[in-house]
Amino acid sequence: MPETESPRSLTVVVCGAGGAGKGSIVSALIERDDRLWLSRSWTTRPRRDAEPPDAYAFVSRGEFESRIEQGRFLEWARFFEHLYGTPLPEAPDGCDVVLEIDVQGALQVREVDPGAVVVLVLPPSRDEQRRRMQHRGDDDDHVAKRLAKSDAEEEIGRGLADLILVNDDLDRAVDEIEDLISQHRRGSSNL
Ligand code: 5GP
Repeated sequence: MPETESPRSLTVVVCGAGGAGKGSIVSALIERDDRLWLSRSWTTRPRRDAEPPDAYAFVSRGEFESRIEQGRFLEWARFFEHLYGTPLPEAPDGCDVVLEIDVQGALQVREVDPGAVVVLVLPPSRDEQRRRMQHRGDDDDHVAKRLAKSDAEEEIGRGLADLILVNDDLDRAVDEIEDLISQHRRGSSNL
């Protein structure tokens, strides 16, 4: 690689079923490493009461669909009745990109970027997963639907993942992802 060329940025995909605990892992990871840049997804889902206004770019169906037509998503997927998508990343120079998305999105990212690192987060148990979803305000119907989908999501994730993490110890989980990212950074600087 010519000296003037910066190494290609790494994409780290954190995926897993609802209530697995992806969000807490990703927040702690971003907090620890200022070379990581978290992508903010677009969604057509309404904002939950307890959710900060910048949790997503909350957009109308029309806005989402016109961005699809313009080819300006890295990936997008329908999750139950709503659409979710990763805008083509605009990470600052020198930063690696972190995506917190579902497994359908992880599959698409792997297709367009085979070097992407995929981490599958599993909840400690289905009971704990249920408790986390209830705690953040999901209604019983929605929790039941998401639990029913979890086995299939996990199976897809297992087929893709470079690292599978059970989220029962936040610090350990973040340490493991940091190690994996360091290995990949070393690998890409040796290319
Ligand atoms: P929630 O409605 O609970 O915020 O998210 C529903 C699911 O969509 C979660 O698994 C979440 O990780 C996923 N998700 C969030 N943003 C994106 C995205 O940009 N693309 C895809 N494919 N999934 C996303």
